[in-house]
Amino acid sequence: MSSQIPGPGPSFALHPHPSPVPAERRAELLANPGFGRVFTDHMVVINYSEGRGWHDARVEARAPIPMDPAAAVLHYAQEIFEGMKAYATGNGGASLFRPEANARRFAESAARLAMPALPEDLFVESVRQLVAVDRDWIPTTAGASLYLRPFMFASEVFLGVKPSAEYLYMVIASPVGRYFKGGAETVSVWVSQDYTRAAPGGTGAAKCGGNYAASLVAQAEAARHGCDQVVFLDAAERRWVEELGGMNIFFAFDDGSLATPPLGTILPGITRDSVMALARRDGIPVREEPYSLDQWRADAASGRLREAFACGTAAVITPIGTVKTPDGGFAIGGGENAGEITKRLRTALTDIQRGIAPDPFGWVQTVL
Ligand SMILES: *Cc1c(COP(=O)(O)O)cnc(C)c1O
Repeated sequence: MSSQIPGPGPSFALHPHPSPVPAERRAELLANPGFGRVFTDHMVVINYSEGRGWHDARVEARAPIPMDPAAAVLHYAQEIFEGMKAYATGNGGASLFRPEANARRFAESAARLAMPALPEDLFVESVRQLVAVDRDWIPTTAGASLYLRPFMFASEVFLGVKPSAEYLYMVIASPVGRYFKGGAETVSVWVSQDYTRAAPGGTGAAKCGGNYAASLVAQAEAARHGCDQVVFLDAAERRWVEELGGMNIFFAFDDGSLATPPLGTILPGITRDSVMALARRDGIPVREEPYSLDQWRADAASGRLREAFACGTAAVITPIGTVKTPDGGFAIGGGENAGEITKRLRTALTDIQRGIAPDPFGWVQTVL
């Protein structure tokens, strides 16, 4: 059984799940979803092949992907992804936050990985389709949301090294609660001296799985040192703070200003961009400039640095309390609690995302 879902832009075939998760079981799962382990009933699939382009857009029952062992992605890691959230708006409605920014970044990641661009309206429409079909999976509890994971990978069956001639684009969805477990407000970070994440000319600005594969050993090192997250320094000088494994970083100073590392080898976070816009709206100067580990340590000691926080879609805005390095550690602003600027920006951002505050930037898109 299939039907077309009406809507603007390209049409998707809908093949509803023959046996979706029963409502009582779904309610149990939604009560405490954790992060990334619970999935909805459906997924989006769109095929690409050289010559035909994008075709067979559909929403179907979530299921394993049949894959040939010689599929190119398994060997050469030609894969990109996005991360975004749908928020319940009350009365069964839902909204997305800056989905066109994810669509644009997805196209830029595709270009860097020598993959075909998915038209940006098709990207946004695919996400809307999945949210509409799986609307009952959007959690309504405070702080929870439906995490959406669009991704694309090389599916051509060929062991030669070249851009694949075939791709699968998919979207899956996962109801999520808070990202960091544990009660502590702040996170601790380990500054890696041995491993880097991204070099000039590399893939640091692309959201590709390979970047994460390369970051895991450093993240494991952070965990061994009792830290929640790893912070990477630049690859050329091992001196400048770049970002965390999957989050950008901000510093707040005693003169009321903010600083964040400049774009280039870091991932251009949509949360990062939104934080800068919100800060500037409120008259907080923001500098995009290199900041060294030595300066970070000195500023934390002198009190010039008041706060530091990490930001990204999954964990939103997370204060950094302590920093550990092979040469010793230091605390920021007492280490225990989120600072005033961090809390203020987090509230400003999440209130817009959840439709509690007005949206002067036009960031929120109603999808239901
Ligand atoms: C996704 C990601 C971020 C955060 O980007 P958002 O658009 O804010 O979610 C930051 N750093 C890395 C390495 C990422 O992959």
